[in-house]
Amino acid sequence: MFLLKKIAFSQLFAINIFKNTAYSTNKLFLESRTNVAVKIMQQLMTQSEDYIPTILAVDDVPANLDILVEHFQNDKIHLTVALSGKDALLLANASPPDLILLDIMMPGMDGYEVCRHLKSNPHTKDIPIIFVTAMGDSENEEKGLALGAIDYITKPFVLPVLKARIRNYLELKRKTDLLAELSLLDGLTGAANRRYFDSMLDQEWNRCQRSFKPLSLIMIDVDHFKLYNDYYGHGMGDECLKKITKALRKTLKRPADLLARYGGEEFVVLLPEMNEKEAVNVAEKLCENVAGLLIPHEQSDTKSTVTISLGCASTTPKQDNTAEQLLKQADECLYAAKAQGRDKVVGCTNTNNKGSN
Ligand code: GH3
Ligand code: MG
Ligand code: MG
Repeated sequence: MFLLKKIAFSQLFAINIFKNTAYSTNKLFLESRTNVAVKIMQQLMTQSEDYIPTILAVDDVPANLDILVEHFQNDKIHLTVALSGKDALLLANASPPDLILLDIMMPGMDGYEVCRHLKSNPHTKDIPIIFVTAMGDSENEEKGLALGAIDYITKPFVLPVLKARIRNYLELKRKTDLLAELSLLDGLTGAANRRYFDSMLDQEWNRCQRSFKPLSLIMIDVDHFKLYNDYYGHGMGDECLKKITKALRKTLKRPADLLARYGGEEFVVLLPEMNEKEAVNVAEKLCENVAGLLIPHEQSDTKSTVTISLGCASTTPKQDNTAEQLLKQADECLYAAKAQGRDKVVGCTNTNNKGSN
């Protein structure tokens, strides 16, 4: 009875912890990202002391969950439990755990069905699943593994062996997550990379189209950066790009705003649910804040410090326009900003270009 109460508590407790610590790709781009890539590399090469993985155990027999709760209580693991397949799906979807221990024989939705649902949902498909079941025949084992489970363990299990396997799978999961994070970042600046930007543009385009909301985009290019490199050296050029990234990132306030390195000394900002007027305001601030860094640039004939030029485009995504057109418009505005003397923002609409200053 005591353990059951504890399970109920642990379930609530763990849900809260999930909400606070769940890995989310977007979370990655809310934090300061200077040297993020280096930090991730370090974490990849070491066992992390701060890493507290989350496990969801699913079983319709409370006594089985009691055993797990009891044996994991001294481990650095957040364990949460579900007594049915339906609850398991709700929990896993709300805050994806790092591993799921899944019983097969359960009333209502059985473990196979739960596994199928989890594997067909993009949000939960990468969570490793271990079937923990009384069904020891090889036919069921083959079925479980064919559904995508990482392992199949029969009851009664030897606890130290189960724990050792769990530890190994969790370490594998941690490294897979870190590699996934790394693959979305630009190595030099720690901003999102072009690949991540492209996928987010696609995603936000579709989302704004469904909700009839505007989508804005700012293309940014560092002014006279070839001259900067030639005069100060490539190393200083790299440092300059990092400082610019930091200033750009600090200027963006909403969680959904995305800064990415588009290539070389070009950056791009994606502003979902923002109209052109608001986006031009953001662009003006970006321009000001980079100029405010006062990084000396003796070779620039725009100013004696480093500046950027920005092109800003907005649209309400529809069937008859495309994200490529939006990018092209922002790029044309950037070109106009360069032509008009640099260190400035030019905004455009779907049909015509007009300078914002
Ligand atoms: P504009 O004002 O017209 O944009 O002139 P620009 O010199 O900035 O443009 P250009 O395209 O001629 O030169 C871009 C320079 O950016 C050349 C390239 O060496 C430099 N660059 C691109 N990527 C990096 C990088 O990762 N690090 C450093 N240090 N320089 C880079
Ligand atoms: Mg350029
Ligand atoms: Mg340039």
